[in-house]
Amino acid sequence: MSIAENIKHYQSSLPSGVKLIAVSKTKPVEDLQQAYDAGQRLFGENKALEMRDKHEVLPKDIHWHFIGHLQTNKVKYIVPFVSMIHSVDSLKVLKEINKEAIKCGRVVDCLLQIDIAHEETKFGMSEEELAELLECKELAALANVRLCGLMGIGSITDREDKTREEFHHLKEVFDSVKERFFADKDWFCELSMGMSHDYALAIEQGSTMVRIGSSIFGLRDYSSKN
Ligand SMILES: *Cc1c(COP(=O)(O)O)cnc(C)c1O
Repeated sequence: MSIAENIKHYQSSLPSGVKLIAVSKTKPVEDLQQAYDAGQRLFGENKALEMRDKHEVLPKDIHWHFIGHLQTNKVKYIVPFVSMIHSVDSLKVLKEINKEAIKCGRVVDCLLQIDIAHEETKFGMSEEELAELLECKELAALANVRLCGLMGIGSITDREDKTREEFHHLKEVFDSVKERFFADKDWFCELSMGMSHDYALAIEQGSTMVRIGSSIFGLRDYSSKN
């Protein structure tokens, strides 16, 4: 199927409360343009400079979602235009986002990434680190970041029960954090979980944003990349 057909398929089949983030990392701008022409406006990228370069040449009504590990020295490249950063995993990076956001006169929407898979290759905070961050006095002073929810990446596994358990757990963490820290904050409402192979399970467990790449754009080829 073509990129346009894939986009149309997801747009018509996802439940109404679930947003589609088309994950276009490593793909050329022509591919993103095809998805755009099919009506897609939310795109996900995981490298700051790649996202900045694509932002410069593509239509300005695209909402750019940053989903990769973010180093503090790269924050400045994306803060001027990013719609949401899904992968915040420390107070340090949050402070840097806040600092750059002040310079741009923006408030940047962020999700906190939680380590639900406990695999070595995955980033994200433990629940202890999450609690520590949310209880930290300094957090309230960061007026130019807005925490909108949580994000998680499921394990690489064929075992549906394992993935389901991880997503179920993340939803429980979300609910308890919402109740404890954000009960009166309507904007704390996003739960970013689910990728091409496990998005259906994620939706079943309460996902509000699915991040889908290869099922839309085809498999990624990393062989020619530096
Ligand atoms: C690459 C990536 C995705 C999309 O993965 P697919 O399996 O291609 O759908 C989703 N989330 C994150 C954080 C990613 O890095």
